[in-house]
Amino acid sequence: MRTGDLGFWWRSVGGPPRPGAPLPGPIEADVAIVGAGYTGLWTAYYLARAMPSLRIVVLEREIAGFGASGRNGGWVSGFFSGPARVYERERGAGDAPYEALQRAMLDTVDEVAAVLSEHQIEADFVKGGHLGVAIGAAQAQHARDEIAAARGHGVGDADLSALSAEQLAPRLRVAGASGATFSPHVARVHPVKLLTGLAEVVRRLGVDIHEGTPVSEIRPHEAITPFGTVRARWIVRATEGYTAGLHGLKRALVPMNSSMIVTEPLPPSVWEEIGWAGNEVVSDSAHVYAYLQRTADGRIAIGGRGVPYRFASRTDGPGETATATIESLRAKLASMFPAAASAPIDHAWSGVLGVPRDWCMSVDADPRTGIAWAGGYVGEGVAAANLAGRTLRDLILGERTHLTALPWVGRAPSRWEPEPLRWPAIHGVYSLYRTADRIERRTGRPSRLGALVDALSGRA
Ligand SMILES: Cc1cc2nc3c(=O)[nH]c(=O)nc-3n(C[C@H](O)[C@H](O)[C@H](O)COP(=O)(O)OP(=O)(O)OC[C@H]3O[C@@H](n4cnc5c(N)ncnc54)[C@H](O)[C@@H]3O)c2cc1C
Repeated sequence: MRTGDLGFWWRSVGGPPRPGAPLPGPIEADVAIVGAGYTGLWTAYYLARAMPSLRIVVLEREIAGFGASGRNGGWVSGFFSGPARVYERERGAGDAPYEALQRAMLDTVDEVAAVLSEHQIEADFVKGGHLGVAIGAAQAQHARDEIAAARGHGVGDADLSALSAEQLAPRLRVAGASGATFSPHVARVHPVKLLTGLAEVVRRLGVDIHEGTPVSEIRPHEAITPFGTVRARWIVRATEGYTAGLHGLKRALVPMNSSMIVTEPLPPSVWEEIGWAGNEVVSDSAHVYAYLQRTADGRIAIGGRGVPYRFASRTDGPGETATATIESLRAKLASMFPAAASAPIDHAWSGVLGVPRDWCMSVDADPRTGIAWAGGYVGEGVAAANLAGRTLRDLILGERTHLTALPWVGRAPSRWEPEPLRWPAIHGVYSLYRTADRIERRTGRPSRLGALVDALSGRA
């Protein structure tokens, strides 16, 4: 089994490339984007399409797709993170701000599909929907609560519905499943094929992506690199889980780890036992949940929270993963799918996602400083980065549109607590969630501890 090396997705396309040419020296541009993940690349894409005359450069410390965009679970999800009340209290966002953002996110899955199709990017994209499987009675209650909360925000039965155990079984056989939620608004993708396809289109549109180019500081209209300063009308920060490495931004977003393992391709006999012909993406409904996809070449990729966070927002390089994390993901796989319990694990890896203090994502662009940014998607940025890219386009071009009126625009999430408080607080939260899951497995009832931790952490 391999671990690290930026993960299986890169290996499956022949391994990560060497970094391309760095910034040749100080330059001037219209827009300089820091970070070549989905956020940076979608922003470059939509800006270059809208105004081909713009000089756009992307400055990337490693290679395009080094971060979470090359390592994620491949869910292109129309749902997003954070409690509705946070978005609802944003001023000037209209009568039903959360509903508007929800609709825009649901539409985003089809927007990603349309761009892939227009540019003939083959990224194993299948819009099979999402099955949120409830394992045991307590998780079944979580699923019912989720549906009830969604109904309060304009999500109807066609968008999110309940499946009984009998309705689930012909599609997917998960041991101990007592039912599931189903939404059609989620697609599976191969993260790196999406990333490299998008990067190629962006280059063809005339955008320069300078790899091996670290930015140490973002100032009004300037990005500082060891090769010289880039001066631009707009500097877009698209650094997500790595943001704390930039001067002055230590407490803006916490880099939360997520880890994955992938099996070898499973034989047809195992697939017959499991089902899963619809290629839905799958999760369970625990507090510390697992997320899964069936890959196009017949493997199961499963991810979840391992070591949640490293002291002082340290990030992890190429994604080496602790043995205990690999073992707990392997155990989860075996408990959900006993038929796959002995499947060899081919690769394990980890990555960092960006988490704001209020667990809600943001897009912002300040015309006075020329500094823009998007992120804080928690674990759901694959689709959200596309919506962010379109929104940043409108903000940067000075256009007021339905996208710029959405309630995630112009938010100012508060900063995280400084260390040494942050590390014990985050580790404490995840350890209490694990305890809540254990209690719920034992009692079959939602634990009050889970709800208490939700409230204390501000996550729900
Ligand atoms: C294991 C894992 C599984 C996940 N699964 C899902 C999923 O299934 N669905 C989903 O929606 N989301 C998922 N996520 C989250 C999702 O991948 C991210 O939200 C999304 O990829 C963020 O994209 P980004 O472009 O904002 O950030 P990144 O992809 O992290 O890109 C940031 C880029 O900025 C570069 N950079 C950072 N600092 C600097 C600097 N100072 N100078 C220059 N360059 C810099 C980095 O090298 C990196 O390439 C997952 C994340 C992880 C880690």
